Amino acid sequence: MKLYQVDAIVLRSIECGKGDKLLLLFSRQLGRIKVIAHGVSKPSSRKRGFVQPFTYSRFLIRRGRELDSVSQCEGIAMFPFLRQSLAMISYASYLAELTLALTLEGERNRPLFQLILETMRLLEAGEAEILTRSFEIKAVSLVGYRPVLDICAGCGQDLASELFFSACGGGILCKACSLGDQQASPINRGVVGTLKALLNLPQERLHQLKVSPSFKRQIRTLLSKYLKYYLERDLKSASFIDEFIEDI
Ligand SMILES: [Zn+2]
Repeated sequence: MKLYQVDAIVLRSIECGKGDKLLLLFSRQLGRIKVIAHGVSKPSSRKRGFVQPFTYSRFLIRRGRELDSVSQCEGIAMFPFLRQSLAMISYASYLAELTLALTLEGERNRPLFQLILETMRLLEAGEAEILTRSFEIKAVSLVGYRPVLDICAGCGQDLASELFFSACGGGILCKACSLGDQQASPINRGVVGTLKALLNLPQERLHQLKVSPSFKRQIRTLLSKYLKYYLERDLKSASFIDEFIEDI
């Protein structure tokens, strides 16, 4: 019998009949994995609480011919606040959906694991929008698409006063480089500074960052275009937050 142990966040849990659930996990040790948890939907299951979405649990997993299955599990951090309001569920769902979209099965990414864990933990204290924006720019950078913010992404020159942002251009562009880029739109230095802070400040220091509602709006639009360009699609939970959830 082959068993292995992972510490993982439950990104999604899908009912698949007979009380079983298919779990999409993001683990510290192995990156994203898919496992089946037998009988966990039954009220009598002791594992039930530890396989809910957004919990951080330790799993002992048995290798299977087609799918590996959960043999034992225990909670490390349950993050109950992430399941207590529609706003929190929406933000946590978005973090999970973005992580699923940015990663491949079996590809280990410890910094990204640490980032999602930190972000989920800090959501309890509020500042959900800033934490989420910072998660977006850090996560996309950790999978290899870091936007260029210090020099022109087109020609590599130092940045002058007139700046532009382009998702397909890879970040900030100078005026000359922006001319041939139909997606390039003007951006002010303050917004660029905030983007750099979101990228470079550790999550637990983001509360020090004061961002005006107008900057928040601009950054939300700009990062959403950037992610859409690299993911080649929209994320469902992102549009839900934009439409229904106020900044918290
Ligand atoms: Zn340039």
